[in-house]
Amino acid sequence: MSASAPITQDVLTIPRKPAADAEGRVNLVGLNRAGLRAALIEAGTPEKQAKMRTGQIWQWIYYWGVREFDAMTNLSKAYRADLAERFVIALPEVVSRHVSDDGTRKYLVRIAGGHEVEVVYIPETDRGTLCISSQVGCTLTCSFCHTGTQKLVRNLTPSEIVGQIMVARDDLGEWPEPGVGSGEAGPRLLSNIVLMGMGEPLYNFEAVRDAMNIAMDGEGISLSRRRITLSTSGVVPEIARTAEEIGCMLAVSFHATTDEVRNGLVPINKRWPIAELLDALKAYPKLSNSERITFEYVMLKGVNDSDEDARRLVSLIKGIPAKINLIPFNEWPGAPYERSEWSRIRAFADIIHKAGYASPIRTPRGEDIMAACGQLKSATERARKSRAEIAAEAGLS
Ligand code: SAH
Ligand code: SF4
Repeated sequence: MSASAPITQDVLTIPRKPAADAEGRVNLVGLNRAGLRAALIEAGTPEKQAKMRTGQIWQWIYYWGVREFDAMTNLSKAYRADLAERFVIALPEVVSRHVSDDGTRKYLVRIAGGHEVEVVYIPETDRGTLCISSQVGCTLTCSFCHTGTQKLVRNLTPSEIVGQIMVARDDLGEWPEPGVGSGEAGPRLLSNIVLMGMGEPLYNFEAVRDAMNIAMDGEGISLSRRRITLSTSGVVPEIARTAEEIGCMLAVSFHATTDEVRNGLVPINKRWPIAELLDALKAYPKLSNSERITFEYVMLKGVNDSDEDARRLVSLIKGIPAKINLIPFNEWPGAPYERSEWSRIRAFADIIHKAGYASPIRTPRGEDIMAACGQLKSATERARKSRAEIAAEAGLS
C-alpha cells in the first residue's frame, strides 16, 4: 500500500508487532483478532487451527477474565504449556485505589516505563461509568485543564487502554465465574466507558480504535458502541474516521461560543475554528433517533457563562442532534478560573432547555479524591510546560 492510499477497513486487519516482556513473552492483551491469530501462528499453532484457537483464547481473556493459560480447559495441556512459555496475559499494575465518600473509585495504574495513569469509576443508580485515559499527559494546552499543564509523555498502547477496563472489572468483581453463569442477569456495574481521562484520544487514534473494538467485541467484554463516548477537543480531520472505524458516541469539548473566547480556552480552535468543527459534527452520522452528540461546556465564572453565550450556543448547534452537558469547573491548585455560581449555571441551563435541548448539569463526583473531570494528572509526571512551549503549541504551527 502506498503512503497516500486512502484509509480503508483493511487497516483494521493489519496486525501490530506485539511487545515482549523481559523473558521475551508477548502480552496478548490489546491484540486485535488478526494480531492474536498472527501471534499464535508465529508460535507454531497450525494455520488450519488458528481461527478456532483465536476464538477460544479470546473468550478466555475477554469474556471469562482468565489470566493463566492453565485455566483454559478447552485447550490441551501441552498447548497450554506452550502458550505459557511464549505469552502472558498482563494488565497494568494497580498502584493505589481510593474510594470517595460518594462511591467514586480512583485507581492509579502503572504502565511500562514507570508512568502512572488515573482511571475513575463513577457509580450511578442506572449505570456505572469508567473514565479512561488515552495518553500520559496531553500535547494540547487547554487553559482550564489540569492535564494540559503536563507534557505529553507518551501515547498509551491498545493493551494499556483496554487494560484500564479490565483492571476495573477485576476490582468490581465483574467477570463471570466459570461454571456458574455469565453474570449477565443483573445490571452491569461497569456499563459505560467515557474517554474523558488524560489525553486527546483522536491524537492516538489507532490505539484507541483497537482498544474500543476489543471492548465492543460480542464474544468478550461486549459493551455496546452506544455505551462508549469519546471526548475530543475538536480534532476535525479525525471525526469522520471515528464514526467509520469505531462508531461510538461523540462528545466535543465546546466550552465557548465565539472563536475569540474558544481560542483562549481550547487552543486547538486556532487550527480548526468553531465553523469547521460544526461542519464536521453535522456530518457525523446520526445512527438512530436517540443518538446525539454531546456538547461539553465547562462553566467558568465571567468567561463563558452569560445568557448571551447560552443563546449563541443554541443558535450555533441548530440542526445538530445534541445534548449539552454543563460541567461546573473543577478547580485545581493554581487554576486561573473560578467555577460559575450555581444560580448562573441554572439560568444558563434553563435557556438551553427552553430551546429544546437536554442540558444536564454534571454533578461533580469524587472531588474529595481529585477524581473529577479534568483533574486527572499523573502523580509522577511533574514536568511542566514552559510558557514558550504553551505559546508555540497554542499557535499549532
Ligand atoms: N482531551 C479530551 C478528553 C479529556 S477531558 C477533551 O478535551 O475532550 C474530558 C472533559 O473534561 C473535556 O470536556 C474537558 O474539556 C473537561 N475538563 C478539563 N478540565 C476540566 C476542569 N478543570 N473542570 C471541568 N471540566 C474539565
Ligand atoms: Fe488535553 Fe482534553 Fe485537557 Fe485539552 S481538555 S488539555 S485536549 S486533556
